[in-house]
Amino acid sequence: MKEKTVFATGNAGKMKEIRMILADADVEVLSMKEAGIAPDIVENGTTFAENALIKARACARLTGLLALADDSGLVVDYLNGEPGVYSARYLENEPYSVKNRVLIRRMEGADGAKRSARFVCNIAAVLPDGKVLHTQAVMEGLIAREPAGDGGFGYDPILYLPEYGKTSAELTIDEKNKISHRGKALERMKEALKAALEGNDEDINRK
Ligand code: IMP
Repeated sequence: MKEKTVFATGNAGKMKEIRMILADADVEVLSMKEAGIAPDIVENGTTFAENALIKARACARLTGLLALADDSGLVVDYLNGEPGVYSARYLENEPYSVKNRVLIRRMEGADGAKRSARFVCNIAAVLPDGKVLHTQAVMEGLIAREPAGDGGFGYDPILYLPEYGKTSAELTIDEKNKISHRGKALERMKEALKAALEGNDEDINRK
């Protein structure tokens, strides 16, 4: 039987990606709404891992189910790592079209490799017995000179992927899932969960 799992996100774009990636795993993924919870979560961690764990713990406590959460964001080297863990809250009341333009403007004077940036995703799992697992992955790129593409969400139009010659927003959802921070972290989590649920997780990094 599939293990019921709640995924702590209210973001429909993320939920769609997550469902596609976990489609072949032995888990039935519920959104917080489907699980009947609306936790008031204060993401006051200072790292992606801390915030992912805060969200997963809140959902595990309210449902008693295996709970998964991701915390992700855009890390721009030229801006000392901004917006980083504050990506969702950066220029909070502005649409992403504005946030993206502002970030591009702040990159004035940065050429070539100085425009390096990446999406980072940490996934935390809290198992019904309280055990915690984490996986993390990145998608490396450069901040584009102009936003491009209308796929994906958030900062996708400004992360240019030199290997593909396009931004993350110009990838199809399947292409993005194969190479994205979230796709890779979830693939690793699928393996980690499989090992943990089979009681074969001695080599898994626990907190
Ligand atoms: P979280 O929901 O607290 O993890 O916030 C993540 C934020 O980082 C999102 O609201 C986006 O602003 C940004 N972000 C994370 N992953 C992506 C992505 O795949 N594409 C575009 N923006 C992303």
